[in-house]
Parts: sequence; C-alpha cells; structure tokens
Amino acid sequence: MKTTKVSFFALSLILLLAAGLSGWSEDASANSNSGKTYVIGTDITFAPFEYEDENGNYVGIDMDLLDAIAKDQNFNYKIKALGFNAAVQALESNQVDGVIAGMSITDERKQKFDFSESYYPSGVVMGISANNDTVKSYEDLRGKKVAVKTGTEGYSFAESIATKYGFTIVPFDDSAQMYDDVKTGNSVACFEDHPVLAYGVNQNNGLKIVTKKEEGASYGFAVSKGKNQELLEMFNTGLTNIKANGEYKRINEKYLGENAPTANLGRWELVQKSLPALFKGLGKTLLYTIISLFFAFIIGLIFGFMKVGQNKFLRGVATVFVDIFRGIPLIVLAFFIYFGIPQAMGFTMPLFLAAILTLSLNAGAYVTEIIRGGIQSIDRGQMEAARSLGLPYRKAMMKIVIPQAIRVMIPSFINQMVITLKDTSILSVIGLVELTQSGKIVIARTFASFDIWLTVAVMYLIVIITLTKIADYLEVRVRRG
Ligand code: GLN
Repeated sequence: MKTTKVSFFALSLILLLAAGLSGWSEDASANSNSGKTYVIGTDITFAPFEYEDENGNYVGIDMDLLDAIAKDQNFNYKIKALGFNAAVQALESNQVDGVIAGMSITDERKQKFDFSESYYPSGVVMGISANNDTVKSYEDLRGKKVAVKTGTEGYSFAESIATKYGFTIVPFDDSAQMYDDVKTGNSVACFEDHPVLAYGVNQNNGLKIVTKKEEGASYGFAVSKGKNQELLEMFNTGLTNIKANGEYKRINEKYLGENAPTANLGRWELVQKSLPALFKGLGKTLLYTIISLFFAFIIGLIFGFMKVGQNKFLRGVATVFVDIFRGIPLIVLAFFIYFGIPQAMGFTMPLFLAAILTLSLNAGAYVTEIIRGGIQSIDRGQMEAARSLGLPYRKAMMKIVIPQAIRVMIPSFINQMVITLKDTSILSVIGLVELTQSGKIVIARTFASFDIWLTVAVMYLIVIITLTKIADYLEVRVRRG
C-alpha cells in the first residue's frame, strides 16, 4: 500500500479518536458526585419516557421531569443510559444515586429501594405484530413464544400467566429488541407497559394492541434503601412544585398531546441523521480499544516473560492469570467488575475504569500467550548456541530470540487487535456508549433495525479492514527491516 494512502487512513482514525476523546470525559466523570451532582440511571429505549432525540440529547417525560425538578430544587445530575435491568442493578450496587426509567413501584422492589411519590400511572399490555390477525387473546398464545424485557413488570406478568396459557418466554435487554422479535415473527407477542406501547403503536413501531391493559403499578423515582434520602425528598418536593405551577402538565402534553413529535423520516434521511451519533460511538470504540490494548500489551509482556522464565513460582502465577482471564467470558467479567465488585466492596467503580480493566485483563491473557508462543517458537538451539558463544541469558534473549519472535507474533497481535475492537461492543451491556450501544440507542428511537445495524456493521468493517491494512503494511516493513 502507498504511504499516502496509509497516512490518509491514519488521519481519519485520529479524527475518529478525537471524537471518542470528546466522550471520554463524560465516562470518566460520570460517577463523580462531588458537590451536588447526582448520577441518575435510566433506560435507553423507553419512549416517551426516555429516548435519544436526533441531536443526541436524552429527552422524554422522565428526562424533562427530572430536569424541571432539578432546576426547582437546585441540584445537578448526570444521566447514565444503561438499559432498564442494568440501571436497576447499578442502583443496587450503588453505581448510580437514583433511577428514573418508567420504573414501577412494586412491593418487591420496595424491599430494596425507596420510591418517590408516583408520577405516572401504568399497567402492562400485550403487543402483537400489526399484521397478525390470528391472536386475539391470551388463549391464542398456546405453544408460542412471547418476548419480554428482562427485569420488568411486563416480564413478571408474562411469567405469572405462562403456564396457564402454555407459552414460552424469550427475554431481551431492551424494548426495541423485544419489538423486533415480534415483528420478525419469532415471538408472537410481547408484554410492555401500556403508555409505552400505546405511544410506540402511534409512532408506527409495527405493533398493535388487541387486549385490555392489566392494572399495574405506577412509576416512581427510586434510590437505594436508606441512601440519598435528601435526593428523594428534593424529588418529591420538586414534583409537588411542578405539578402546582403547571410544568408537569406541560411536559406530559409535549410528548403525549396533539403536537407531540412524530417520526416520519425517509430511510436514507434517517441513516444520515444518525451518523453523527454513530461516529461518536465509533470514536469511543477506537479509544477504548487502543487504551486497553496498550495495557494488555504491558500485562502480556510481564506475564509472557514470566511464563517462559526459569522461576517456577512466577510461571505458576502467570499460568493462573491466563487461565482465569481467558476462561471467564468477557460479558461475565464486565458484569463482575462493574456490578459485582462495587456491590461487595461498597465503592463506586467509574464506567471507564471498569471497561478498560475488563478489556485489558481479557486481552492481556491472550497477549501473554502470544508472547509465550512467539518466544517458544524460536528453536532452543539458537539460545543454546548464543549461550555457548558466551552471551549472557538476557543478552541472548534480547539480541537473538526476541527479534525473531516478534516476527512470529505480529500476525497474532493483529488478530488480537481486531478481536478486542469487536469485543468493545460487549461493554454496551454495562452502558458504555460505544458503536454498538449508539446503534441500539438510534434504533430505540427510529425502530429502523435493518438500516442501522447494517450501517453499524459496515462501520466496524471499514475500521477493521483499514487497521489490518495499516498493520500489514507495518508488518512488511518489519520483515524487510
Ligand atoms: N415499568 C416497568 C418496570 O418497572 C418497565 C420499565 C422499563 O422497561 N423501563 O418493570
């Protein structure tokens, strides 16, 4: 490849990285609640209560209520769009100070959380595909699959009637995925909160409602039991105030009244409008990949040399390290580091730290093996020859073995780089707004699964192919040199 081409690609990557860096500070400071800034967890896909608008702002009834209450009560807050289940888990492990996410005030949840006064009535309703004429009641669900969203009231309701009506439950993380499963026909129905589904149906999300809504709990703002009581009080007082001064009504009308926003963009227009958000996500994907690979490389160097070294104890330590971090699935490691450890230890783990730790430890285990394998692939005779010529071990290693080993390792390093880049997408489960999560957020607003997932896939492909090309080019130079 020509040098100019390489520099062009390198430049575009740097620009993307800059975009990622601009979002970095958000992650890094997201958990600092010094002063009076509270971190509030929410869902990513729960229009009209919370969703991202075209300009990348979180909007919706919950978001506007919180904002109006914060202004009224003079506190600052930071939103973390985690997804419903993750937001509730984050509250349990004190990773966030409060949750506002169309969260129903149920007796079970009251054991763990303190709720504000309720601010919106809800209830669960069944949704089916808009072109399904066969399902008319729960009886028609027999032998079929029903999509639900993990950790929600809709899930609990579906579970409570599943045996009676003989259907199987398929759990999803967010509402958009659940709707997609119904639209594609894998599931015949889903259970969702009435105000949300009714709103979605109006926005042409491809579903319809044919049954009556089940009476359910109302929405409230939640904090961990006994914690952040001052925040809860401010929420309640603020809520009373904005109800009195008409703000509450205005907010509801903004989203549910006659002039409420409707989505009717063309497909291409829609993709175009979502590009800035996706590029920002891509920037973050690259940034997290590079930082994690940097640490993974250091980890790999340390443990890799321990593994080929002569000290039995160090060899053992390195082997245990590799076994653990290669053996735990990345998603489990992410949950363990972000939710598990903070809950057990009672401290807050910043998202960026959890994300970097997860990726670096995982990739570090693989890099350790790459380095070990590379060094061991060099014929023992070379070391022996070097030693017999009088070179000390370290010198023989540095001058004879390592330079050859590096050439062997390069293709595996490139491979690991591609894997780590793709693995960043798994961190969307702990709310890192990288490329995949950005895609999910856009789909939650637009319901355009095909177009957006295609765009996201193409973006990953372009970046990965570009990076591999640059790496190939460098590899050729290393070989020649
Ligand atoms: N209201 C439902 C619950 O609290 C669903 C909330 C949501 O999906 N954001 O379980």
